[in-house]
Amino acid sequence: MLYVEGLTKTYRTGDSELPILRGVNLSVEKGEFVAIMGPSGSGKSTFMNMLGCLDRPDSGTYVLDGIEVSKQNDQQLALVRNQKIGFVFQSFNLLPRSTSLHNVELPMMYAGISRSERRKRAMEALKRVGLGERMNHKPTQLSGGQKQRVAIARALVNRPAILLADEPTGNLDSRSGTEIMAMFQELHEQGVTIILVTHELDIAQHAERIVTFKDGVIMKDERVEERLTAVPSDEVILT
Ligand code: ATP
Ligand code: MG
Repeated sequence: MLYVEGLTKTYRTGDSELPILRGVNLSVEKGEFVAIMGPSGSGKSTFMNMLGCLDRPDSGTYVLDGIEVSKQNDQQLALVRNQKIGFVFQSFNLLPRSTSLHNVELPMMYAGISRSERRKRAMEALKRVGLGERMNHKPTQLSGGQKQRVAIARALVNRPAILLADEPTGNLDSRSGTEIMAMFQELHEQGVTIILVTHELDIAQHAERIVTFKDGVIMKDERVEERLTAVPSDEVILT
């Protein structure tokens, strides 16, 4: 489903160079639910932006759903982003003056889907995240958890190959965070492939697999069951 090998990224600001990703290798199967953890500044968001085709690596291979993303030109990359990827951000990134329905319809406008079909699919997606009664509300009229559910509906509406979420519970209180995680778990049970970044072990344990970044490389990759039975001696240092 997703295969990454030798991914590197260096940010250049002024005359300084900062290597952020230093050869990341990762393979994710269809239907897997993977959590990414690691210290602040270790390159998690940089990596997610590469996976989401929001930015390009300097080198390395990235294959998504049979497409060699690393070889696509900018126009093709935009198409992959729109057709294959659903992205959920910490800060929701909704259009503030638009209704839930319009926010969810937006990605389908870029995909050239007819107006009536857009409306139908957006309504279905909002119902799927439990917001059937909030279709005409604007973001300011919704709670944080509800805003994130609109963002999840928007991410899913083009039926992407993968759902990427960068700290989706980071701006939510713990109750809304738990609700959102229950939603991700439900999507996982429905077969959606998910990669989610979080700082919190409690959140990460909703996934089946936890990948830990440190200094721009993956330094741990474990099944959640193994973690729960392992002696947690080095946990404190890493998370
Ligand atoms: P956090 O847990 O705090 O979200 P992160 O693991 O997501 O951290 P990144 O956002 O990937 O970390 O950032 C990694 C490093 O790259 C940081 O040192 C950051 O300052 C730097 N960085 C990120 N984006 C840019 C950019 N556009 N230009 C220059 N440096 C950047
Ligand atoms: Mg980040």
